[in-house]
Amino acid sequence: MQKGLLLVVSGASGTGKGTVCKKLLEEIPTLFYSISATTRQPRIGETDGVEYFFISVDEFKNWIAEEKFLEYAEVYGNFYGTPIHKIEERLQRGEDVLLEIDIQGALNVMKKRPDGVYIFLLPPSLEELANRINGRGSESPETFSRRFNAAKNEIAVGEKYQYVVVNDTVDAAVEKIKSIIAAERCKVKRNEFLFEKLLEN
Ligand code: 5GP
Repeated sequence: MQKGLLLVVSGASGTGKGTVCKKLLEEIPTLFYSISATTRQPRIGETDGVEYFFISVDEFKNWIAEEKFLEYAEVYGNFYGTPIHKIEERLQRGEDVLLEIDIQGALNVMKKRPDGVYIFLLPPSLEELANRINGRGSESPETFSRRFNAAKNEIAVGEKYQYVVVNDTVDAAVEKIKSIIAAERCKVKRNEFLFEKLLEN
C-alpha cells in the first residue's frame, strides 16, 4: 500500500495560506489536518482542539522536553508546534496529512522528512501582499512596514521548496495543489510496491 503524503503548505504572512488550506480541506474530506499547539491566546470564535491546542508556555516546554513535536518555532512572540502524535499513524494508513506552518517550521520539517511535499504559496504581487497585510486592520504604520518587510524576506526562502503556487484566486490555488497531490501519488518512488507486486514471480 502507498503511504500517505505529508503535505506542508507555507508562505510569507499575507499570502492567504489559511484560506487556501481551509478550502482544500473542504474539497478533500479525507485529508487529515494536523492541529498545532500554540501558546497564543485563542481569538474570538476559536475553540481549543479545533484550530489549535491552546496550551501554556510551561506545558509547551514540557512537550518540547518530551519530544512531542515534529517541529516548533516562535512566531511573533508566541510558540507554535506540530505534535508528532498521530501524523505517522495516519501516513502509515495511507492517509494524507496537511501541515499549515510557518517557514521556519517548514524548513525544520524538510530536514527531518525529505519525503514530504513542500508547497510555497506566493502572493500575485507585492501590491496585493500589501493590501492583504493592511486588510487585517488595526495595523499601525510601524507594524505594517515591519510585517511587509518581514514578508518580503520570507518570500526569498521559497526557492528552497519543491513547489510554488501563486495564490491569485483561492479556487485556482486549490486546483493547483490538488494537481500536485495527484502527481506526487504517481511518482515511481512512491509506487515501488506496485512493481514488486507485478514482478514477484
Ligand atoms: P496564527 O496565530 O495567525 O494562527 O498563526 C501565525 C503563524 O504561525 C502562521 O504563519 C501559521 O502558519 C504558523 N503556525 C501555525 N501552526 C504552526 C506550527 O505548528 N508550527 C509552526 N512552525 N508554525 C505554525
